Amino acid sequence: RACQHKISLAQAVLDTTAALKELIENALDAGATQIDVCIKGPSALDLLQVMDNGCGIDERDFLYVCKPSYTSKLHTFEELGSVRTLGFRGEALASLCLLGNVKLITKTAEAKRGSCLSFDHTGNVTKIETVARERGTTVVVTELFEAFPVRRESQKKATKRETTRMVDCIQQFALVSTGVRFALSIDGKRILKTQGHGSLLDSIAQLFSSMTVSSLIPMDTHQIQSFHDARITGFVSKPEKACARSATDRQYVFFRSRPIEMRKLCSLVTRIYQKQVGQNSYPLLFLYIELQDGTFDINIATDKRQLLIHDADRFLEACTSYFCELWKVKDY
Ligand code: ADP
Ligand code: MG
Repeated sequence: RACQHKISLAQAVLDTTAALKELIENALDAGATQIDVCIKGPSALDLLQVMDNGCGIDERDFLYVCKPSYTSKLHTFEELGSVRTLGFRGEALASLCLLGNVKLITKTAEAKRGSCLSFDHTGNVTKIETVARERGTTVVVTELFEAFPVRRESQKKATKRETTRMVDCIQQFALVSTGVRFALSIDGKRILKTQGHGSLLDSIAQLFSSMTVSSLIPMDTHQIQSFHDARITGFVSKPEKACARSATDRQYVFFRSRPIEMRKLCSLVTRIYQKQVGQNSYPLLFLYIELQDGTFDINIATDKRQLLIHDADRFLEACTSYFCELWKVKDY
C-alpha cells in the first residue's frame, strides 16, 4: 500500500512543466501578486525555483507541508464541490520531495524571520535554518527525477519542447491572473516579464506583440438566447488571411481563473474560421468561459484540466451559430 501511494505520487508530477504548474498554482493560492520563476539546466532538471510574495507558510505547518495528502485548503469533504483554490489535493509538494530535492524558504507576515526548510524524499523536514527574507515563499527543486533515470533522460532529450511548454504554461497563467506580475529567467537570461495590471489586451501585448492585439476582435456570446446559463467572452482573430498562423498555438481557454483544455470547442471554432479564411489558417483564441454551478464537471487529469459541460452538444451548437455570425460564415 505504501508502495502504491508512492507510485501515485510519482504520477502526480510527470514532467518539469507539470511541476512548474503546481508551484505557480500554489503561489496564486497563497495570494501572490508577484511570481518569479527561475530555471537552470536542460528541462529545469538542475534548478526549478518559484518565488512568490504570498502569505507564506506558518511555523506550525512546517512539519506537514510536504507530507502526502496535507493541504491547508480543504477542511471538510463537503467543500470539495465548491473549491475555489487551484490546489486542494495536497500532492504536489509531497511528490516533488519524492522526485527531487526540495527546499522551502518562507516567511509569514507575523514571523520575525524567514525559515529555510530542507526535506527528505518522504517529505520529512531534515533541517530548519533561519534566514532573512520578505513575506512569501520560495520553492527550490534541484535534481528533479534523479532517482528516475528513464524520465530524467527523456526530459533531457526533450529540452526544447519542455522549455516551450514551460513558457506557454507561464503565459497562460499570466493571461488569466490579472494583478499578478510574472517573470521567467532561464539559465540566468530574462525570457519573460509582465506588468500585472491593465486589461487582457495589455497582457496579450506584453506577452506577444501589439501586432497580435491589432489582429483581434472582441467577442461576447452574452446576447445569444440559446446559451441561457453559459457565456463566452474574450478575443479572437479577425477573419482575415493576413493574421492567420500556421499552427494551433495561441488558442487559450480559461474557466474560473484557470487555463483549461477544451479541444472540441477549439477545433470547432477553428473549422468555422477556416471556412471563411482558408484551410491552413488558424485563429488566435482567448476565450473565457462562464458557467452556472451544477452545469459542468472539472476533470483533473495529471497535468491538464478538462471542462465537461452538461448538454455539451447544445452548447457547441450555440457556439457554432455565434461564431458563424461573428465571422460572417454562411453555409457551415
Ligand atoms: P495543495 O495545493 O493541494 O494544498 P500542495 O502539496 O501543493 O497541496 O501544497 C501543500 C500545502 O503547502 C498547501 O496546502 C499550502 O498550505 C502550503 N503551500 C504550498 N506552497 C505554498 C506557497 N507558495 N505559499 C504558501 N503556502 C504554500
Ligand atoms: Mg498545490
